[in-house]
Amino acid sequence: MVHFINGEYINKDDVSVSIDDRGYYFGDGVYEVIKVYDGELYTAHEHLSRLFSSAEKIKIDISFTESELLQVAKELLTRNKISNGQVYMQVTRGVAPRQHNFPSQEVLPMLTAYALETKRPLDAIEKGVSVKSVIDVRWLLCDIKSLNLLGSVLAKQEAKEANCFEALLHRDGFVTEGSSTNIFGVKEGVVYTHPATNLVLNGITRQVVLRLCNELAIPCVEKEFTLEEAFNMDELFLTSTTSEIMPITKLDGQPIGNGQPGLQTKRLTEAFNLQIPVSKMK
Ligand code: PMP
Repeated sequence: MVHFINGEYINKDDVSVSIDDRGYYFGDGVYEVIKVYDGELYTAHEHLSRLFSSAEKIKIDISFTESELLQVAKELLTRNKISNGQVYMQVTRGVAPRQHNFPSQEVLPMLTAYALETKRPLDAIEKGVSVKSVIDVRWLLCDIKSLNLLGSVLAKQEAKEANCFEALLHRDGFVTEGSSTNIFGVKEGVVYTHPATNLVLNGITRQVVLRLCNELAIPCVEKEFTLEEAFNMDELFLTSTTSEIMPITKLDGQPIGNGQPGLQTKRLTEAFNLQIPVSKMK
């Protein structure tokens, strides 16, 4: 597999990254995952813009332009012969002896990327998944797609140990998002999701769903709902680049609605499938 390391394409086995990289010591960096359908990068501009905005929020100056990064992503697809999968990109604050404060200006950020062939989770999208409620103990800058993922890692593991696909995070009684997904509820035909504040990542798939709701004339409100309300939703679903739109059929072992993927969720999935690069793709 060929990786991109600060301007060079290198075979994975030949890559070496310094032990002094601040990503390794502090998780001091940001990242993106872009989905590839039939050789095409999906919503690449949205992902790359968010990469620049996350980097800016933690004061990292990416020394590549958006179009250069797009070229890198495309080159990785070609060199690795990827047709369906994802591109991962991360930027750290670079390599410097371990000290919390930023290193001097001469230390340049470290940009690495790779591409992977993966399958769409079609079975889970059709049948739905179970989630476990977990207290959201993450920091207060969840709008930044930061490499500091310990809160998410612990939540996802807790969900996994309960045989659940995802953790549904709640803070002060309100549902925020999943450990690596956004969460939506549907009640009496209205779609609800947490507003794009500092408490959640403004998912690109979340934004696609808001647009699709608009196009399908499904009423949609960016408004918090409580964990208690989540149990009583007619439908729940989660969204992310890799999970797409996935019905949640059980929360903490209790069925949501009739325990089957809901009608509005299905409508959104159908609309989603029609606007990915190749809708007939299985
Ligand atoms: N929230 C969190 C915490 C995430 O890590 C992710 C996935 N990166 C999402 C939401 C979904 O975002 P997207 O639709 O852009 O993949």
